[in-house]
Amino acid sequence: STPVATFCAFLKAAKMGLFVKGGDVFEDLAKTKVVAFDKTGTITRGEFSVTELKTLTAEVTMPMLLYWVSSIESKSSHPMASALVDYARRNSIIPKPEQVDGFHIYPGEGVSGEINGRRIYIGNKRIAMRAQSEAVPQSGDMKEVGTEGYVFLDAIPIGVFLLFDTCRTGAKKGIEELKAMGMKTAMLTGDSESAALYTQKQLGNSIEAVYSGLFPEDKVRTVEDLKKEQGSVTMVGDGMNDAPALAIANVGISMGISGSAVAMETSHITLMSNDICKVPKIIKLARSMSRKIV
Ligand code: ADP
Ligand code: MG
Repeated sequence: STPVATFCAFLKAAKMGLFVKGGDVFEDLAKTKVVAFDKTGTITRGEFSVTELKTLTAEVTMPMLLYWVSSIESKSSHPMASALVDYARRNSIIPKPEQVDGFHIYPGEGVSGEINGRRIYIGNKRIAMRAQSEAVPQSGDMKEVGTEGYVFLDAIPIGVFLLFDTCRTGAKKGIEELKAMGMKTAMLTGDSESAALYTQKQLGNSIEAVYSGLFPEDKVRTVEDLKKEQGSVTMVGDGMNDAPALAIANVGISMGISGSAVAMETSHITLMSNDICKVPKIIKLARSMSRKIV
């Protein structure tokens, strides 16, 4: 395309609320065969609420569980952590947080910390191994929508909880539009399979491929595989855990309002409005620009 066409494309993108880092980006974008989306914070709002929290042993009362969970999660900046801290504040009288020693983050798994010399682990199924617990506790009669979480005191399971997040307005429409344009769509998430499938259902099953339980390096490998099998990949994500995959994709798109700084730095385009509907729009713009040879 000509410099004039590129310049016009920049102007149009800026009007749409998109920050594009270079003229080549449009050329690459026009070739997109697959659009891969992160789930939490990209397709969904990334604003969790706690729908259920239960104690699993008589020795650990609800106020104790809430107190420990909120003390440890107040050290974490994960969107799930703030949901748990808010829930604890609303459902019990929390004095000042308990002193937490040796706080540790297990990326893609959860967190742990020591209170009064006893170690507590909070996270998904994988955290059970960190706690050296024999088994993942049964959630019993919990409604099976959303993200399940577990709490361990040393190796003893003491609590289970369920977190819920909603899709962004425009996510379903944006993905359907991409399909109508002939593109494949995929979801890449660190969250559990059940949470991923629930989101897929909320999107009216418009997303074809779902990859769950991924660590950041698994997201990279998935993008590489998609490139090999399908062709040019555009990846959309918001988190620190998406940054390597955004960098390896043919085009990386980050979320502007809630996204992490590192995701914005490694991406080629930033959606200033967090609106997924802008993804098919910018690809259409790139396609029409690349057709303008003179
Ligand atoms: P994603 O943003 O793709 O869902 P993350 O790597 O941020 O992936 O998290 C993956 C999973 O690890 C979460 O779905 C959750 O189950 C667990 N997890 C991570 N951090 C925490 C935390 N602070 N508290 C509870 N669970 C956590
Ligand atoms: Mg995310």
